Amino acid sequence: ISAVSTPQFEAAVDLGAIAHNTQILRDCAGPADVMVVVKADGYGHGAIPVARAALAAGATELGVATVTEAVALRGAGISAPIHCWLHAPDADFAPALAHGITIGVASSRHLAAVLAAADAAGTQAKVAVKVDSGLNRNGVSPGEWPALRDLLAKAVVDESAAVQSFFTHLAHADEPDHPVIDTQADRFRATVADARASGIDPGRLHVANSAATMTRPDLRFDMVRPGIALYGLAPVAGRGHMGLRPAMTVKARIALVKDVAAGEGVSYGHVWTAPGDTTVALIPAGYADGIPRNLTGRFEVLVGGRRRPAVGRVCMDQFVVDLGHGETSVTEGDEVVLFGTGDDGAPIAQDWADALGTIHYEVVTGIKGRVARTYR
Ligand code: PLP
Repeated sequence: ISAVSTPQFEAAVDLGAIAHNTQILRDCAGPADVMVVVKADGYGHGAIPVARAALAAGATELGVATVTEAVALRGAGISAPIHCWLHAPDADFAPALAHGITIGVASSRHLAAVLAAADAAGTQAKVAVKVDSGLNRNGVSPGEWPALRDLLAKAVVDESAAVQSFFTHLAHADEPDHPVIDTQADRFRATVADARASGIDPGRLHVANSAATMTRPDLRFDMVRPGIALYGLAPVAGRGHMGLRPAMTVKARIALVKDVAAGEGVSYGHVWTAPGDTTVALIPAGYADGIPRNLTGRFEVLVGGRRRPAVGRVCMDQFVVDLGHGETSVTEGDEVVLFGTGDDGAPIAQDWADALGTIHYEVVTGIKGRVARTYR
């Protein structure tokens, strides 16, 4: 059964912006290559269309967190190199091996599991070593490194593994002058040197996320690994967009317009009361779709070319916008922009992040539920 025609609530993704941002990243990083990070369904933008657009615009590799995400990209016919780097202890690596995906390893146990799966499949494993140089999150720690190194050196000699890359991730990339960045780079270089001394060709080296790509030319190595900048969102707060174009516009269509008399409360708990006679619009999207309930009373939307306040509690499926007294130009079915590029005066993802005390990464990856994704 086919549902409806025009979506009530949509995240419209501008693939031209993805291509444009890829080009900016290439120009910035060259001669280093660009691996674009499309984990978490392309930061909420749709991993497959985003990956295709970025590859067509000159990105050469893709990065995701999980084997499942990587295999889904292959399933869409994408043949570019794909890295995945976050695995459960009992992860099944067979699908990744079958699809020629590069598996990031963070411990000798990971590597042993990958090698066992490759042996069972009669294939050679493509591996990448994720070095923990100081983020103290995922990656091989200094204490674990010798065990991983020795196992990897053997696997390289008997050709059960082919090393594609060594990489690390920074803790303070959005603070370009932070001394820990240099400490991490030094530790990474030392691990790579130790690998080489043990007969391991580390393959391609990559460190820089979006922020480091744009602010630390010394850390571009063979490849950069940006995510947020691909989607057009500023990687370093306060440093502007650097010519990037936000790709996602979240919009909805007004479901209902009605008059509310002065003194009437609106939505659950009546946390907002109409100060005078007014007209309100009902927007059919709520916290189940990624509009956090904590935004209640703290956001505006663009309707009819003007910003208007959302009033009353954000509910599971809906929220209300105050159009003001005597507003007759706005009607049911009209488009409302929740956030977007900012070019038309609409709010941007950063506005929500500021209101919520979070980062725009969380805002765009949070748009989910019944939202339709449309592409142009
Ligand atoms: N590399 C790794 C290992 C990551 O986990 C991420 C995202 O968190 C990125 C690169 C991309 O980072 P950003 O979106 O800040 O560019």
